[in-house]
Amino acid sequence: MKNYEFWFLVGSQELYGQEVLDIVAERSQEMAAELSKKLPYPLVYKDTVKSSAQVDKLIKEANYDDNCAGIITWCHTFSPSKMWLNGFELLQKPYCHVATQYNEEIPNEEIDMDFMNLNQAAHGDREHGFIAARLRMPRKIIAGYWKDEKVAKRLGDWMKVAVGADFSKHLNVMRFGDNMRDVAVTEGDKIEAQRKFGWQVNTWAVGDLVKEMKAVTDEEVEALFEEYKAEYDINTDDIAAIKYQAREEIAMQKMLEANDCHAFANTFQDLYGMEQLPGLASQHLMSKGYGYGGEGDWKVAAMTAILKAMGEGGNGASAFMEDYTYNLVDGKEYSLGAHMLEVCPSLAAEKPRIETHFLGIGMNEKDPARLVFEGKPGKAVVCTLIDMGGRFRLVCQDIEVVKPIYEMPNLPVARVMWKALPDLTTGIECWITAGGAHHSVLSYDVTAEMLREWATIMDVEFVHIGEGSCPAKLAEELMIKDLIWKLK
Ligand code: MN
Repeated sequence: MKNYEFWFLVGSQELYGQEVLDIVAERSQEMAAELSKKLPYPLVYKDTVKSSAQVDKLIKEANYDDNCAGIITWCHTFSPSKMWLNGFELLQKPYCHVATQYNEEIPNEEIDMDFMNLNQAAHGDREHGFIAARLRMPRKIIAGYWKDEKVAKRLGDWMKVAVGADFSKHLNVMRFGDNMRDVAVTEGDKIEAQRKFGWQVNTWAVGDLVKEMKAVTDEEVEALFEEYKAEYDINTDDIAAIKYQAREEIAMQKMLEANDCHAFANTFQDLYGMEQLPGLASQHLMSKGYGYGGEGDWKVAAMTAILKAMGEGGNGASAFMEDYTYNLVDGKEYSLGAHMLEVCPSLAAEKPRIETHFLGIGMNEKDPARLVFEGKPGKAVVCTLIDMGGRFRLVCQDIEVVKPIYEMPNLPVARVMWKALPDLTTGIECWITAGGAHHSVLSYDVTAEMLREWATIMDVEFVHIGEGSCPAKLAEELMIKDLIWKLK
């Protein structure tokens, strides 16, 4: 991750005299410094802006500064917004308007006209907000007292979203082989994906990976095997299978690094020259922050990497997931999510075990090693990105992960069980109405609000399924959105 920072631009004007402007600058610096202590990335006070030329200059600098992940504005005093117009039209970075006030309370005894000249955020922020509305700017608006923990939390979440947007703009995805034959939802327009999201999605031959695997030394394999032993319990006698996965992981990581890729997809239908589908290998790469998609699903691979980057510490608990099967028993309605091997251990409630089992799907000559564990309980989301033809749609659903209600001793893969909102069957109807894929990204770190903001920044359609969702209303919403997005 880069040394990301956010720029704090405070609006004012020349009308009030230097004394007022000095106080504004001093307080704004104090606010940036205090807020930075609670935020995931530094908030850097840049200037108190008083003219159009000054706004233009700062916005141009923000656009060209690779570490600047977004700008945050606020108006301590009144700031006539015609001076922001040209600069805002040039802005290429995510934008958040914090509508706050230096003082929390109206000071009963002190309030006079001097106080009013200095503290005009209540109307200054409205003038400021109008011009962004008039320009139809994608933006986040956060209102509240700047020392309030909720304000800092929401601003911090938005910063993570903006970092996810920057990460997306520089993301390269490595494909080993093509999509699984005949599958529709994993397909998509790679040119449109690059235009909207910045992803460069390219293919590499499985033969190149096999060549790279052969070049991996035994010492390298032993070193990674020691890492596996430190992180996981070994629950198999087939050590050779584990070391084979280590060889696959090292080779894949070398190719990913050499080509500056942070996400990859492969398919069980193209393992030519390999003994096992990468299971443990893909899982351990995901734990390091790489995105992954099965069956050639490069969209979910990219989204996994982005949600990880948006999470805590730039590598949050987010993972490639697939709806596996349902428990439809009345009062005990749950989804069981898993994949044939590749579930990220960042979801684990316990120390994962390395196991080897027969895998009938694909061209596996040997039983692939994989990590087996249960997902941890907690609030989460699942999201899916689909290509609607001419545009992308991001669908997000709120879920609550529970401890699996069955032990499932013969299920040889990691598993996550969840309660879907608003409920299992309504949720299924909504998801299918929206065209959501069987592949998704499950995240404990990224919320629906964050994904909505990310879709706003990337300028793609967003659909949220949660408490109160209803398939009939959703169908109407989608019909209207279809028209809007065709006009855009
Ligand atoms: Mn799958």
